[in-house]
Amino acid sequence: MIQADRDRLVSEFIELVKIDSETGNEEKISVVLKAKFEALGFTVVEDDAKEKTGHGANNLICTLEGTKEGVDPIFFNSHMDTVVPGKEIKPQIEDEIIRSDGTTILGADDKAGIAAIIEMVRLLKDYDIDHGQIQVVLTVGEESGLIGAKALNATFIDAKYGYAVDSHGDVGGLIVASPTQAKFEITCHGKTAHAGVAPEEGISAITLASKAISKMKLGRIDEDTTANIGRFEGGKATNIVSDEAVVIAEARSLVPEKLDRQIEQIKDACRQAEEEVGGSIDVDVTIMYKGYKHDEHTQVVKVASQAARRVGLEPQLKATGGGSDANVISSYGFPMVNLCVGYKNIHTPEEEISISEMMKISSLLAGIVIEAAEEGSA
Ligand SMILES: [Zn+2]
Repeated sequence: MIQADRDRLVSEFIELVKIDSETGNEEKISVVLKAKFEALGFTVVEDDAKEKTGHGANNLICTLEGTKEGVDPIFFNSHMDTVVPGKEIKPQIEDEIIRSDGTTILGADDKAGIAAIIEMVRLLKDYDIDHGQIQVVLTVGEESGLIGAKALNATFIDAKYGYAVDSHGDVGGLIVASPTQAKFEITCHGKTAHAGVAPEEGISAITLASKAISKMKLGRIDEDTTANIGRFEGGKATNIVSDEAVVIAEARSLVPEKLDRQIEQIKDACRQAEEEVGGSIDVDVTIMYKGYKHDEHTQVVKVASQAARRVGLEPQLKATGGGSDANVISSYGFPMVNLCVGYKNIHTPEEEISISEMMKISSLLAGIVIEAAEEGSA
């Protein structure tokens, strides 16, 4: 059985989390990562994400030539940025669990993913494992709304399918479905008037917005679909009939047709409210990222499930309600699964990861490379 080298893995992880890389400030970490992957035998290219996003660095696309012919090339993906507060992180190890000193995040999201990928490459050498071409796509700006992945020059990826190493949850968990997310900016236009002297001359944008909201299906719509009003703004003073109200909302679904239906439902609610109250409503819909859904027979899922069993884990196929770089990169035509890395309480100072989970994810990645090589070319 393939087993990660505990001390090597931990020291790699500790080194990475000590390099500040709050989202937008990826300069330092990207230089380090480029050097590390080159030292591991990869050819590293940069795209032009820095210019497109204003972030600290470009995305890195690292390529390791295969040692075996006739294998579909695969890729792994992690992000090099962290959320805030992520400066001068002081990792502590206690009872085989790694945490920060409580004043910052730990940054296991997603440096544990990167450390596991590096350990996997070392394991390929330790165990003399034959493999096809492996690419590693390291993005900037994931924590700023996936903007690095959105700016990624995907022509550098020649892998056939891939794995994001970037989900909370116990190792063995495979995120095989993630929703498409739509964002709504709903602007309600009324007509201003003095609320005490001539209210009948006004149309309250707040009343109009409330009426529209009351007609919207919100919350959990069905097992695949959710919708939520996230913000409501409008009005100036009690003696003024408000002429503008803005509602910010979102909807998500694992099934594209259901999301389309939900978008229509929200637009219909607005049209009915216009008829009843007067005034007008502009509904602006933006697709923030696209979803994906794979069944157990897809190559990308099969390889990961078999790999999990190979390294002694029970694969758990799961859907998530959230989005990650996997949503964006898979929309470029590369089927992806997001792997659970085992970190907990991410985006808080209580973030933590156990060393045993880090070891498991490293061997799972090596298992994936082995299974992909055995699978050959589908
Ligand atoms: Zn992450």
